[in-house]
Amino acid sequence: MELKTADFKNIAKDIFYYTGMYKLSLQASRLCGSPALLILTYHRVYPADSDYVYLGVSRDVFDQHMKFVKDNFKAVSMQEGIKALYGSGSREIYAAINLDDGYMDNYTNAFPVLRKYNMPATIFLTTDLIGKYHTFWWDKVFDIVSQDKFSSFEAGVEADRINKALVGKNEEEAALFIQDMKKRHGYADKHGLCRMLGWQEIKEMNRCNISFGAHTKTHRNLCLLKDKDALEELRGSKNTIEDGLGTEASGFSYPFGVFDQRIKALVKEAGFKYARANFKSFNYKDSDPFLLSCIGAGAVLKPGFLAARLFSAYLAGQGRRTNGY
Ligand SMILES: [Zn+2]
Repeated sequence: MELKTADFKNIAKDIFYYTGMYKLSLQASRLCGSPALLILTYHRVYPADSDYVYLGVSRDVFDQHMKFVKDNFKAVSMQEGIKALYGSGSREIYAAINLDDGYMDNYTNAFPVLRKYNMPATIFLTTDLIGKYHTFWWDKVFDIVSQDKFSSFEAGVEADRINKALVGKNEEEAALFIQDMKKRHGYADKHGLCRMLGWQEIKEMNRCNISFGAHTKTHRNLCLLKDKDALEELRGSKNTIEDGLGTEASGFSYPFGVFDQRIKALVKEAGFKYARANFKSFNYKDSDPFLLSCIGAGAVLKPGFLAARLFSAYLAGQGRRTNGY
């Protein structure tokens, strides 16, 4: 059997995890650090015995991740994490779990695991889709390329490449591109539409330590919209959650992690207290609350890989801070 570089990297990640080296590393970090907030972001959690879904982890992997987080960090809600980050002198490393978009599987597969470990989490909802059946265009792209690729990993890499380019296009351009892809690939829509969370599930979870933030009304790239339309996406999604739950929706997650200074200002204007972007690092006392960083854990299939990803992000963040970037 021939071992490739990727195999060696994977073995190194397993060694890092199973020898407990990461635990020593985290303890050392706590001795010299100020508070840090890790935000771990997921999208979909699928049943343990079903096929891979794009940007998803299976329920048993999600279970292993939650156990890892619970064992190694102080698990908190976003509100608690932000309060601790900016208002405490602790040296703790806090961790908050986020799920984006509002898929029904967050209720059927993620919620039971979160309850098992008594973990708080925040779900960022695309509010026009609450209670609807819908398939996001990036999931369609994955389905289409899956027909031609040998493994879900290869299909995921190809879908990532195409989706990254489509984020910069407006709705109509993306729809035309996907229509053309369907024709070229002879795509037969075998999965049907995806079910999104409804108010019943949202309210039940909200009574059990799950909070809700806004992720716009329609999940469009805000940077492509005029101020008026972007504000409607921001205020509309905030109001819908507040009306539905009777509590403040103080948090926002930028669709696709995409933002610019204009959009950041509009998020403040819409009345949010914090916003999560996508910088692949931990957050520190000097982090901008409207550009909070997160680490994507969807599609990370083993706790060893998660440990390695988190620790390298932590070190990178510490390095940046020391260097003053
Ligand atoms: Zn999203």
